This record gives sequence, C-alpha cells and structure tokens, in this order.
Amino acid sequence: MKRFILLSTLFFFTGVNFLSAQELYMPRNVQIAVKNGTRTLDGSPGINYWQNGGKYNIEETVTPETKVVSGVEQIVYSNNSPDTLKILAIRFVNNVHKPESPRGSEVNDNFFTTGLDITSFSVNGENYNIDSKNWGTVAAVRLKQPLLPHSSAQLNIAWNYPLSKQDGREGQVDSTTFYVAYSYPRVSVYDDYNGWDFLPHTLRQEFYNDFNDYQLSIKVPKDYVVWATGDLLNADEVLQPGIAKRLKDSYTSNDVIHIADFNEMQQHKVTLQNDWNTWKFSADHITDVCYAVSKNYVWDASSALVDSKDNRRASIQAAYNDTAEDFHHSVKWAQNSLQYFSTKWPGVSYPFPKMTAFQGHADMEYPMMVNDATVSDTRRFGNQGFKFAQMVQDHEIAHTYFPFYMGTNEKRYAFMDEGWATTFEYLIGVDENGKAHEDSVYKMFRINRYIHDPSAEEDQPIITMSTQVSGAGYGNNSYGKASLSYLALKDMLGDATFKKALHHYMDEWHGKHPIPWDYFNAMSTGSGQNLNWFFNNWFFTNNYIDLKIDTVQREKDFYTVKVKNVGGFAIPFDIKIIYADGQIAMLHETPAIWEKNSKEQLFKISSKKIIKSVEVDGGIFMDYTPDDNIWKG
Ligand SMILES: [Zn+2]
Repeated sequence: MKRFILLSTLFFFTGVNFLSAQELYMPRNVQIAVKNGTRTLDGSPGINYWQNGGKYNIEETVTPETKVVSGVEQIVYSNNSPDTLKILAIRFVNNVHKPESPRGSEVNDNFFTTGLDITSFSVNGENYNIDSKNWGTVAAVRLKQPLLPHSSAQLNIAWNYPLSKQDGREGQVDSTTFYVAYSYPRVSVYDDYNGWDFLPHTLRQEFYNDFNDYQLSIKVPKDYVVWATGDLLNADEVLQPGIAKRLKDSYTSNDVIHIADFNEMQQHKVTLQNDWNTWKFSADHITDVCYAVSKNYVWDASSALVDSKDNRRASIQAAYNDTAEDFHHSVKWAQNSLQYFSTKWPGVSYPFPKMTAFQGHADMEYPMMVNDATVSDTRRFGNQGFKFAQMVQDHEIAHTYFPFYMGTNEKRYAFMDEGWATTFEYLIGVDENGKAHEDSVYKMFRINRYIHDPSAEEDQPIITMSTQVSGAGYGNNSYGKASLSYLALKDMLGDATFKKALHHYMDEWHGKHPIPWDYFNAMSTGSGQNLNWFFNNWFFTNNYIDLKIDTVQREKDFYTVKVKNVGGFAIPFDIKIIYADGQIAMLHETPAIWEKNSKEQLFKISSKKIIKSVEVDGGIFMDYTPDDNIWKG
C-alpha cells in the first residue's frame, strides 16, 4: 500500500441529474397495498397485514402395483382477508402431466398422465358436483355460500392421480421408489397485492404457497419406508423395534447411524410385517409437505445442534440407492450445512426439526427435504472428490430459508429465493473449499455463460416477473445476477451491517409473504441507509458487468486513472497497480463508489515511481470485455 494514496474521487460526468434519494418503480397493485396498510415503505408488514392459511389433515395411500396415489383430506381454510370470497382457487400442480397442459420445458412420453381425478368434494358438509376432467394446475370452484371475511370453511376432498413414469420433481424414480410431491389438492394463495393466484404451473417457475399446519399419514405396503416433511409420530407402529431404536438414537447423535442397510431392506428386517403400514407425520406453519417411499433404498441418519441457546437439534437423514457413492456422505455434509447456515450465513438457526436428502433426479428443494441426483464428480469438475454433489446439496438445503422460512413468491420473483440459495451456496463453498476454488466454481457455473452472451435476453431487469422471462432470461435473472446483487450489497455494507439488515428483513417477514419492495425497503431500514440507488441500479435496469480503463495520465507526482463503467452495474472491484520496480499495490472499491456517478470515476494515485500497469478486476463480478480492464505504460 506504500506510495499508493487515493487522494480523491472526482465526479465530472455531466448531463444527468442524480437524485440523492431515488424512488423505485412500484407496481400499482403494490402501491395500493401500501395505501391499504398491508405493506409499508419502511419494509415492515403493515398494520393491516394479513395472510390466509389452512389446517390440512391428509391421508394418502400409495399402491406400488398401480403407481396410483389416492387420498382424502380435510382442510380448514381461514379467510383472514377483509374480502368476501365467492370462489376458492384449488391448485393441483401435478396436472402439469396432462398432455394439454402448457409447459415451459420439454418432456417425453413417459411424463404424461391423466392427472387428478376428484371423487368427492364438499364445503362445510355440502357436496359439490366437481368434474375435474378439464382442470389445469389451478381451477376455480364457485362457492355455494361465500366465505366471509375472518371466517373459515371446512373442505373435504377425495382424489387420486397416477405417478408419472418420468420423474422430475416427483414421480417414479424406479419400480419400487417414488418421490411423491404436490400430491394433494390445496387452496391456492389469496393475497393482499394480487388476489387469487391463478398462474398456472408450467414446470419452469416454482411455487407460491400459504403457510399451513399439516397432519400427514401415508399408507404403504410392508417393506416400504416413508421419508417425509415433518416429525415421524409413530416410529414404533411402522418400524421393527431395533430399527426404531436406531432412528431415535440418531436424534441425539453426532455419528452417522445406518438405520437400514441394503441387506436389511432385502431381508424384510426394517418395517413391521403388516400387509400395510401407515406412517404418520406432522409439520406446522410450513408451506408444503411431501414424501418419498422406497422398498430398496438404504437409510442413514444423524443430527446436528442448530440452536445452542436452547440446545435444539435437527434430525438429518438420507435415503438413497446403496450404489450412489456421493450419498454415503450426504448426512455428514448436511450436518455441516445446517451448522454453517445456522451460525454463519444467513446466521439464523435452522428453523425446522428435520432435513432429509433423497436420491432422485430433481436437484430440487422441498420443506425439510431435498431431492438430488447422484453425480459422479468427473461429470462437472474433473477429479475433485464429490464437491459438485456437496454443492448441489448445500444449495437445496439453503432454500430452507428462502422460500420456506421466508414465504416468497417464487413464481413471480424467483430471484427472492434462487438468488439467495446461490449466494449461500457460494459462501458455504468458500468455507468448505477455500475462496480460490469457490470463486472459480461460481464463475464457471453461475456467471460465465451469462456474461459472455450478449443477447438482449440476458440484460432484462432482474425485477421482471419470472413468469414473463424464459430460458437464459429466467435462469440468470433468478440465480447469477441476483446472487451478484446480494454479494455486491454485502461488499458495500460490510458483513456486520449487511447481516444486521438481512436479519431485520428476515425477522420482519419470516412466515409471511414478502415481495421485492419489502426486501428493498427492509434492507434500507435495517442498514440505516437509503439503498434505493443501489436497488435501482441492480434490479430495474438493463445493466451488465463491463468496466474499462479509459485513460491513465501522469502529471508531476501523480497518476489519474479514469475507469468507465460501460455495463453499468454497481459492482465492487480491485485496482491493481504494478510499479516499474515490481512492487504491487492493491486497492478495493466497494459498489458505493458508483452511487453519485454510475458511468465513470477518476482515481488519483500519488506516486513518484513509474507505474508499469494498472488493472481493474471484479473477481467473481466477471467482466464482459476483460481485455480493456488493463492499462500498460
Ligand atoms: Zn435453487
């Protein structure tokens, strides 16, 4: 740092007036929500904030011979809104398997099914004649008696649907292993800024769900194990005594316990030998429940301390094909993940009693569960052990916080969950593998394709509704670009202030439905700074990443370096000076430097020595044209 003094940063770009406190574009429906007092400009839920929810009591049967899931449920749905509801929107995501459903990605013939068949439907004891044959992934049921504000209705529904042969986020993994998700009809979200959520599920966008309380019971033939969201309530009624003891021991153990190995599964030594067993689970104040069943998977378990204040542990389990080498490490990795996420980033105690990793093909998160493909590591990263498999599992577990602790609307604003999961994936990766390795992985996997693709799709503003973008526009807006915005903000605020602001946002909105403006406003309030200029720069523009050293001029004992921000994003970067005598000096600039002038900045470097080269380097903020980031004297 010797002989390297930043004397001043000059602003001389003219022709644009910068307002000191910019206002962010706010959609009219959000403005109305603020006016109605359900949301606020300081980013806290408004005095009139409300959300609807239900108590779900679900009983499902999985019949392996027919691959059919059938169920009955009772839903007590509470209308906490000030509105009289004349319809109920009923959602069944798995109707996306019907050939006539709109889809955002390709499927093969094995994907198609006949979808949902509702066999009975009643509201408050009154039978409804429902023909679900023409239902899509969401359908309106007109109520015979409107549901008044601050009242509830009891729905009783019976249904069945076939499991798809092609499994993705759910379906048949093999002939005796099924991942059963989105398996019950549910009331779609009715919220304060948008009313009923009638957006169809198309496979691309993910989900938006109320927080509900669940009692879930799953009936399967003997020798089938069930892994599900929530606490297993009746281990002794479904497992043989020795197996049940191992499972209970795992709840307090740091060691990985093999609850059931391959031979035990084959030799009928795991479940009770009744013709059918009914596995019972419960989970409260959570956005969804799902489960997996298998007759041939092995089962590991352990637990981790996730809250030292009350010595709370979370159960950690894994269910997989014994041949999947990476999954043999799954429980150990998850112990590390839960402890990292609880204590470092986001630094919020893991909020659930359990996490189960299941081997499927989805690379997908569910409350308290993840469904990941097995990866032989050479597929992605060369010979580096199982780092890719661990990274994917870390990512999916990170989703615990966004969208399951924070009930974000993934369908409209995917960056509110994928951007954070990608950020936590990076931060835990630095902890696990070191910064150099993780930087290269993040650049290769999350940024490289985006920044080197000059297509207009890549530069659509991040705030663009996720339903209105596709392909690269969806992927990079949701993952890489959004993650970079969070990491840029962390760099600008510093870790302590960034964490304080993030925790403010999370404390205000966990268990609720925040939207982007709640995030923006809560972070400004939590940090004690008006960050609108930053959010405007990152979320509401067509910016990309491209710095350039425009000129370097020497005058007496100092150099003047003009750096242009061609792409426009307010990124952090390093300036690296190499002197003629070989000495190197480094300086870090946070995104704050772009607040007053996001187009260009002048740096004065006091030096009596000759400078050989000056380079600007954004690191993981990869530059579109890195060749012009270096000046050589
Ligand atoms: Zn994700």
